[in-house]
Amino acid sequence: TGPGLGLGTWPARRARISPHAPALSDGERAVDHAELAGRAARIAGGLAERGVGPGDRVAWLGVNAVATLETCFAAWRLGAVAVPLNYRLAPAEVGYMLDDCGATLLVHGPDADDLVAATAPRIPVVRGVEDLARGPARDDAGAGLDDPAVLLYTSGTTGRPKAAVLTHGNLTWNTVNQLAHVDVCSDERTLCISPLFHCVGLSQVTLPTLFKGGSVELVARFDPAAVLGRIAEAGITSFAAVPTMLQMLCESPSFAGTDLSSLRTVVYGGSPVQERVARAWLERGVALQQGYGMTEASPGVHMATRDGTAAHPPTSVGVPHFFTDVAVERDGELAPLDDEPGELLVRGPHVSPGYWNRPDETAASRRGEWFRTGDVLRAGDDGWAFAVDRVKDMIISGGENVYPAEVEAVAVTHPDIADCAVVGVPDERWGEVGAAYVQLRPGADLDADAVRALLAGQLARYKVPKYVRFVDELPRNASGKVRRVDLRAAAAVAEELS
Ligand code: ATP
Ligand code: MG
Repeated sequence: TGPGLGLGTWPARRARISPHAPALSDGERAVDHAELAGRAARIAGGLAERGVGPGDRVAWLGVNAVATLETCFAAWRLGAVAVPLNYRLAPAEVGYMLDDCGATLLVHGPDADDLVAATAPRIPVVRGVEDLARGPARDDAGAGLDDPAVLLYTSGTTGRPKAAVLTHGNLTWNTVNQLAHVDVCSDERTLCISPLFHCVGLSQVTLPTLFKGGSVELVARFDPAAVLGRIAEAGITSFAAVPTMLQMLCESPSFAGTDLSSLRTVVYGGSPVQERVARAWLERGVALQQGYGMTEASPGVHMATRDGTAAHPPTSVGVPHFFTDVAVERDGELAPLDDEPGELLVRGPHVSPGYWNRPDETAASRRGEWFRTGDVLRAGDDGWAFAVDRVKDMIISGGENVYPAEVEAVAVTHPDIADCAVVGVPDERWGEVGAAYVQLRPGADLDADAVRALLAGQLARYKVPKYVRFVDELPRNASGKVRRVDLRAAAAVAEELS
């Protein structure tokens, strides 16, 4: 793992093979692989002139744009660490992250003007990359594989987002894993609809596609009708999405009339998918591959195979990646993942060395060389796995384990129920009981008793939520995950429940 293999060298290496193949576009600007290499080298010069050196953190704030990746590759060229931040956060949260990662410079897109002004960072700020790109081209050896490449904040589903340190080696091995599992071609035209501050956008889609010499069309903001339009117009061959996006796309009025024939693969993951949503895509002849992973694993851990999805429930997350080992802990010992649900441990060269500046949380997430995912999985006889739920979300009611995801999956089989989330609330008699938050479809006419009756027809009694509450929309974070913290807080106000 000597110098010169880091991600910062990728554009130049790729440009030797396919210089004039399109690399990135964002609707306003497009670059081929040679241009990307040239721009990244000059922006690296601009960053170096502003004092950025190896190990320094360069934050980026803005919607997906060519400039986002140019900034990342430029930082990597210098051996600096890229920190793409969530532009949907409040100014105080952005300020917290800039302090937390100790950024030396913030580069931002024009869309983030107001957010940056309101954040008033205490560090130098550069608007856009055009000034930086006037810098002298730099051809540094960059970083070695063990050096940090990005700090990627987790989605903040279970608490405050933590920055996972991902090394150049982590992201390289994740790329190798993805390519061993997903067919990515040199003529790939992928649509990056997930934000680049999250691993689905950055390392699930973009890095493997660029590595293969394909092109990435960056989408600034997710709009279902516009995305469907782009797929047909641009002949998009693949995209990756979180399940909420898949659902919004297939429930869009234009879905039925959209020509999806150019799509070779759709990868999805990040939270449980509704079976009917997956089926809506499968029925259109699209090859679906569900992935399971997490920021800390760069992110891929499990993935359904291209040929296997049809023969398995579309809720299965498939088999582990090529260079990924998984296990569960049983009675203090490591054991193979089987039909009995257990917390998954992961090991592999793509797993983060730890959280930035959080030695206690890093230590708590480790068992020797294994990373504790905090997720409960199980696997069938042929090894195809299912993500059961998060350990933290499990409800213990009268001594029995209830996995909210199982209850939610039953609830959404009802045609009137658009979405559902179940959280645990304290109960004097049972310790904990479930509270179901239900989002009905427009015009639906269901009451709490009908929801409970539906669930009681298919689940053991102790799994049926005691409370049912109707909401217009479930609260979600930028990764499309239900903000259970908010629901638990609301549920704690017991008189609100019925
Ligand atoms: P935080 O760690 O800050 O609480 P987060 O865990 O949601 O947030 P991410 O790294 O974005 O942050 O998400 C990884 C998690 O998403 C996994 O640990 C798992 O709980 C869930 N997940 C990922 N893929 C799937 C999937 N295919 N099905 C169900 N859940 C999934
Ligand atoms: Mg997590």
